[in-house]
Amino acid sequence: MNAQAAYDELIRRSRELSTLASCSSLLGWDEQTYMPPGGAEHRAAQLGLLAGMHHERATDPKLGELLGLVESSDLIADPISTTAVNVRELRRSYNRLTKLPRTLVEELARTTSRGHQEWVAARHERNFGRLLPSLETIFALKRQEADCLGYHDVAYDALIDEYEPGAKSKDLATLFAALRNELVPLVKEIAAAKKKPDRSIMTREFPIDRQRIFGETVASAVGFDFRRGRLDSTEHPFCSGIGPGDTRITTRYDPRQFADAFFGILHEVGHGLYDQGLDPSHYGTPMGEAVSLGIHESQSRMWENVVGRSRSFWTYWFPIARQVFREALTDVSREDFYASMNVVEPSLIRVQADEVTYNLHVLIRFELEAALMKSDLPVAELPGAWNEKYQHYLGITPKHHAEGCLQDIHWSAGLIGYFPTYTLGNVYAAQLYGKADADLGGLSEPFARGDFSGLLDWLRQNVHIQGQRFRAADLAQRITGSPPDHRPLVKMLKAKYGEIYGI
Ligand code: ZN
Repeated sequence: MNAQAAYDELIRRSRELSTLASCSSLLGWDEQTYMPPGGAEHRAAQLGLLAGMHHERATDPKLGELLGLVESSDLIADPISTTAVNVRELRRSYNRLTKLPRTLVEELARTTSRGHQEWVAARHERNFGRLLPSLETIFALKRQEADCLGYHDVAYDALIDEYEPGAKSKDLATLFAALRNELVPLVKEIAAAKKKPDRSIMTREFPIDRQRIFGETVASAVGFDFRRGRLDSTEHPFCSGIGPGDTRITTRYDPRQFADAFFGILHEVGHGLYDQGLDPSHYGTPMGEAVSLGIHESQSRMWENVVGRSRSFWTYWFPIARQVFREALTDVSREDFYASMNVVEPSLIRVQADEVTYNLHVLIRFELEAALMKSDLPVAELPGAWNEKYQHYLGITPKHHAEGCLQDIHWSAGLIGYFPTYTLGNVYAAQLYGKADADLGGLSEPFARGDFSGLLDWLRQNVHIQGQRFRAADLAQRITGSPPDHRPLVKMLKAKYGEIYGI
């Protein structure tokens, strides 16, 4: 077989694997939206069968042979050609999958499945001891996983690499430290400010049916294509890119929490726009896939916060919102509405945190999981360390572990190395937005007219259509002139909140 034929076969198999995985995604979407509770057992059987088929094909030694044939040819001479990029990334996933012994994969699956159940119970009982044995096993297994995968510096790096290929904990630590030095004083300054926006506007009555209509209208206006996507309700909002022409987002509605559903929709719309912007002709290959979780999150956080919580956005949308939510907003000014959705306050729960304190929540988790992976911190001492850090960085202490170290699903699910991607998303969002704003001669004016197409076209061209051609830091470097850099985010936050709080 010649190299070209080997490459063609590789791509055929890659597309087939993606199609198979998309069947699981669709079943997963259905499980969280419309499946009746009685379908749970059969659904688990369906998903288990598909996962087994996927794993068998993804680790087929034939794939390794095909990769070897192409790698030793001049087809990949240009490292950023479509061929070279696809081969680089297919090799990466093949290696990750085949380096892990089957026994370890199965043990991790069993432990995290039990860990999830223990986490649900522990959180309900507010009892960390209940989760402790599972969590100890999970961290031990994840250390084994890192050893199998290999790393240069610390084991934690091998795990981060799964979500943010190429990122290193040492660089992340520098980035987080720089953010911490700027954000901790900013949060204190805001807390001491005399001006206090009225948060209660957000918790007035916003009827759910109208929230739905308003959310869909805005989603469509910023570019989410409902002929190639849909929006449904779930308990835990998510975005699922099923395949070309089919991107599904979800949200949850509460009549007394306007911001939850609305910004939840914009967040998932940001993810969805990325998926809808991928090149369909590269579907099923790395060139048709998102770069990393950090870059994915940069898109969601950009539409949710940088765009959605901006004054110019509401210059256009507030008069419309006021017609839709007549009772709630009749006596509210645009400025008060804008300030109300931008209240900054240290809080205990990450997913409810504002734009400024959010990164401190992530920083705490990053520091803790780095220490847990190194065994510098025994898992049994996690609750104490958690509370200490919340007191230190945010000046507050959880009253119980459900609002402390038991609040997130990640660790009990074995997702270690995932948290830093949230803050990378914020950092990349500010960098990319700053560049788009400069390239396009200012975005607030078109936003105030309800025109969001300039930003979306810019993102399509610079980020979405590129697929995995470049790794995240490299992509940021090429577009903005620097790898992840905390400064644009800090500058943006200081300008915005300095004005809102008069500091
Ligand atoms: Zn997200």
